Amino acid sequence: MGRKLSRQGILFVLVGPTGSGKSTFCERLIAEFPDVLSYSTSVTTRPARANEVPGKSYHFISRDEFIARRDRGEFFEWEENHGNLYGTLRSNLENGITMGKDLLFQIDIRGALNFKRNFSENTVTLFIVPPSFEDLQKRLRGRGTVDQGELQRRFSTARSEYEALLSLHGTPGGVDYLIVNRELDSTYDEVRAIVIAERARYSRLDKDSVRQFCEVTI
Ligand code: ADP
Ligand code: 5GP
Repeated sequence: MGRKLSRQGILFVLVGPTGSGKSTFCERLIAEFPDVLSYSTSVTTRPARANEVPGKSYHFISRDEFIARRDRGEFFEWEENHGNLYGTLRSNLENGITMGKDLLFQIDIRGALNFKRNFSENTVTLFIVPPSFEDLQKRLRGRGTVDQGELQRRFSTARSEYEALLSLHGTPGGVDYLIVNRELDSTYDEVRAIVIAERARYSRLDKDSVRQFCEVTI
């Protein structure tokens, strides 16, 4: 009774082109596992989209403020995408780890590899791809929140993310899982299965907490 396994926190990093489904899966995971997963809200200098909630989707700040906070060392990592700056707050990482919650991140491939380098045992990377480029275009247009020029920039970023994905094939410390986001519910089942399986991985469990389950009293 009351016995619990304990282990280090897991950093689940969702990567993939804009429109591949990262936010959709993050939202579903947080809704299903609110007690064990929390979302790491990044900071960005890009303007908020109509459907985005400041403080939840991102912390939206000016470029000057971003640079000042970066120079104070507030970001664990940061990158520039499409002319905008994006960064992961150190405090998010620390809070998540202190609270014993596993964390969910939605960052680009360079940020994901940075996590892998610094927290190799804790980081799990899932690369999400749409079933085809046509589907990606349809989904992005359906979301209806980015203009044509912006879409073109995002497609060229998608190309370089795919190149990075392919170049990482067979590289330890690269991408752990590839998810093809066809039908939403069955793809979500695949994502949640990975989260559940990784949470049970023996190598991350604290040995003393495992010992509690290994008593034989006859
Ligand atoms: P990202 O966060 O990677 O930019 P989103 O989660 O916002 O992508 O998804 C982009 C759009 O595609 C959203 O409107 C979302 O509802 C839709 N979408 C996501 N997955 C699917 C799917 N399997 N089938 C159809 N539409 C999807
Ligand atoms: P978007 O503008 O579409 O929300 O994001 C553009 C890209 O920036 C996406 O690939 C997204 O995952 C990435 N991104 C968002 N936040 C961060 C972050 O904190 N760090 C890094 N490295 N990339 C981020």
